[in-house]
This record gives sequence, C-alpha cells and structure tokens, in this order.
Amino acid sequence: MTAQENSIERIGARLASGETSISATVEAALASAERLNETLNAFLQIDRPGALKRAAELDAARDGGGDTTRRDADSSTSKAEASTSDGATMKGALYGIPIAVKDNICVRGLQTSCGSRILGSYQPPYDATVIERLNAAGAVVVGKTNCDEFAMGSSNENSAYGPVRNPWDTARVPGGSSGGSAAAVAARIVPVALGSETGGSVRQPAALCGIVGLKPTYGRVSRYGLVAFGSSLDQVSVFGQTVLDAATVLQTIAGRDERDATTADVEVPDYASELRASGDVRGARIGVPRALFGEGLDPEVRASVERAIEVYRDLGAEIVDVELPHAKYSIAVYYILATAEASSNLARFDGVRYGFRTEEARTLSEMYRRTREEGFGAEVKRRIMLGTYVLSSGYYEAYYRKAQLGRSLLKEDFRQAFERCDAVATPTTPTPAFLIGEKTDDPLSMYLSDIYTCTANLVGIPGISIPCGLSSERLPIGFQLMARHWNESTLLRLARAYEQAQPFGHQPRVM
Ligand code: GLN
Repeated sequence: MTAQENSIERIGARLASGETSISATVEAALASAERLNETLNAFLQIDRPGALKRAAELDAARDGGGDTTRRDADSSTSKAEASTSDGATMKGALYGIPIAVKDNICVRGLQTSCGSRILGSYQPPYDATVIERLNAAGAVVVGKTNCDEFAMGSSNENSAYGPVRNPWDTARVPGGSSGGSAAAVAARIVPVALGSETGGSVRQPAALCGIVGLKPTYGRVSRYGLVAFGSSLDQVSVFGQTVLDAATVLQTIAGRDERDATTADVEVPDYASELRASGDVRGARIGVPRALFGEGLDPEVRASVERAIEVYRDLGAEIVDVELPHAKYSIAVYYILATAEASSNLARFDGVRYGFRTEEARTLSEMYRRTREEGFGAEVKRRIMLGTYVLSSGYYEAYYRKAQLGRSLLKEDFRQAFERCDAVATPTTPTPAFLIGEKTDDPLSMYLSDIYTCTANLVGIPGISIPCGLSSERLPIGFQLMARHWNESTLLRLARAYEQAQPFGHQPRVM
C-alpha cells in the first residue's frame, strides 16, 4: 500500500463513499498494530476495546446525524466546543481516522509510561489538550507508542520496554525519541501519529523511516498533558505519510490554550485549504548553509539532499547561500539547556505522586533514592546528573549561562538568515538509520544525531523533514526545511511542492 493510498484523504474518501466504515477502518489499524508489534515493538498499549467502541459510536453518529463526536463532554477549550456542535466536524478530515499517540502524551483511560519504569502503567485522569482537540475532530486513538525514556534519545533504545525496530530494516533503529510513532506510520498501521520534540525527536525518526515529520513553532501547540522534558524546547509534533496529512493534524491541534501559558494567541491558518489552493513555489528563496554540509555528513545523504535542493531550483525557487555561524555550537548548547531543564522537571518522580515506588525502603529519603534508582534508566540518570551539574553554583556561570548566550546567538543567526531567504534547507540527519546497538556505548556520537534538528528547537522556529531518497542499502534519507516563527504555511507549501514534484513512492519491508 502506498503512502497516498493510506492517506487521510483517501481513507476519508472511502468512508464518505460508504465503501468502508469507521469500525472496519479502525479494526484494520488495530489488526495491523497487533500483527506487527512482535516485529516492531512500536506500541506499548493497543486499545482494541476503546478504539472499537469509539469507532462504533462515530459510525452511529454519522449514520444517524447525531453528535457524539466527543469522548469527554466537559472540555473547556472553545475550539473543541465549536467544532463538536456543528455538523462540519462530522465531515471534517479527521473524522473516523485512526491515530497513534506517543506514550508521553496523556490520553484518559490509557497508560502514560513515557517509556519509563518509574511511570509504568500510570493512567492520567485527563486528556492532553491535543487529544481533546483530536477527539473533538472525530479521530480515533488506537494506542500509545513506544519511545525513549522521557523522550531522551535518538534511537528508541532508551525505552524501558525494549527498542523499536525500523520497518525498512529491523536490525536498525527507527530513530528517536518518537520511534514508535514513526514506525507505526511508516509501516502503514496508521496514517498519522503524534510524537514530541525537544531536539528533533520527530524530524529525525521521520527521516530514518521515510515519512514526513513536522515540528511546529514553539507556542503553536499546547503542551498541556505532554510530560515535560525541556519545557522551553518541548513541542507536540506530527508524523504523516504526506505533507497534507501532517498539515491537517497540525491545524486540528494548534492554537491558544488557556492551560498552557506559553501558547500564543496567533491565528491558526487552514493549512490544508492553503495547500490545496496553491502549490506554486516560484520566487521562494531557499537558504542553504553550505558550511553544515561538511564533516560527519554521509556522502549519500549529502548527494540526496543536494538533489532535493536542485528540485526546488527546477520548480523556480531561488537558491541562496546563508551562514549560520553559531550552528556548530548547537549540540553543546542543546545538551546543557535540555539536561538542566530535565533535571528540574524530573524531580517530580519521587515514588509519591505517580507510578512506581520501590518495595524496600525504611526511611523517606531511602524511598526517594531507591525509587529513582530503580525507576530511571541509565540515560535519564546521566541527564539528571549533567543537568544538576550545569545548574550548580560555580558551574552555572560557566555552562548554563554560556549556553543561554549561545542560544541567543543562534536566534540572531536565523534572524539574519531569514532576511535573505524564506526557508533554510539542511539534511535532517547526518546518516541513514544506524544499527541497533551501534551507538549505545557512545552517548556523544548518539547526541550528534541531532546536529541538524536541535537548532530549530533552540530558536523556537518550525521545521519539517521530507523523505527525499534511499541509500544504497535501501534506507530512507530525509531533508529538512526550517522557516520563520509562525510560518508553518511556508514550510508546508514548500514541502508539498517537493513531494508532488518528486513523489517518494518507496515502501518499507515490514508493513
Ligand atoms: N535526541 C534528542 C535528545 O536525546 C532529542 C530528544 C527529543 O527531541 N525529545 O535529547
């Protein structure tokens, strides 16, 4: 099945024509999730009963014209209310569409483990705002996907529940930290899935799995109900097989949320209609930071990304050189700031408030210590220690403050680059998918996987990864576009123009 055949648009058309029902569509997604999970380990929980019940309700509502699009009637978001009570939602693009959700985003009634033993089968008593909005649009959550523990990682090997395998080659990683969601979309289990980004955790696995990954502007999408890692960087992000599908999900989940003060009151365009209306990219200026195409970049990735840039030239875009002089510091800056924020955010996991508590402890402090010792994995501990270190007195000035300064310089780099261009193009990752186990003993080389992606998180701008070819080993390669704050429209238009000029058209081995 091609990406197009399993797109939201096509599924929607089959539903509209009566060729299939929502129940049958959801049953197919569940069956393929169950069948492939032994091979891929993409899902930590598959909600067969819940998803089928909801599908039956949606079928009934559609046939009867009633309004039961919501699982929870007590939402406080005005957008959700507006979209439930009118019939338009019923015909909305996401009505009846199965979707998978990374296991660090709260869905009421399902687990939220964050890939960690310390949360285990913890069940949040509420839905994240993004889930409320998807529910209001009629989407059907089929399950929670595997991820690196607390979203820390680039390979999914840091999950307490085992690695996810890449559907293109099961000896290889799918990328991370949102590897389960990426694998689920790549293997055509669901057309779209939610992941989260702190430093590239959707764009990087999207590239390694041959699908589209979209990180919105910081503040575009509510973080309410997303378990915090690095709060100034985190953003719920979207996987799709097509650019249009990613756009459809983004416009559903985006917008101001009273429960997240960092969401901005910026109008959310109807991205899908915009995309349908215009695919013209003539005159668009694409900035290429050549200096980043050097050391450490796999030659096949470089060649593929350079070809992608030429496609834009052929489409009438203008290719300009840009410089991002401080981009070389981005990994260092990112790993100081992200670990600092994580060390504070993860203090709440103490054996009292949520999830796991050690069996053996005689005193309170022993209980805290043992709970965290037994509950967290090695990478999470490493990050808590690093973060605590860079925030401790004496080191704060030398590391944390310096990294903040570096972040400001990066923002300035991009401000200047965007005076010359509408989007910056780079590879998404330095290499195609690596082997499971290849980098586990070398955290630094693992951290370098984020070299092209983490800048967008630091600067707060949107980024998208688009598949642009296969390596000689038949592994997907992706390129990335980044645009100004709030300029997802530009990204999506450019991405779709590429996708239409150069359809990816390849299929993974496992699906
Ligand atoms: N791979 C990066 C990290 O390990 C990014 C993670 C993310 O975006 N959640 O921190």
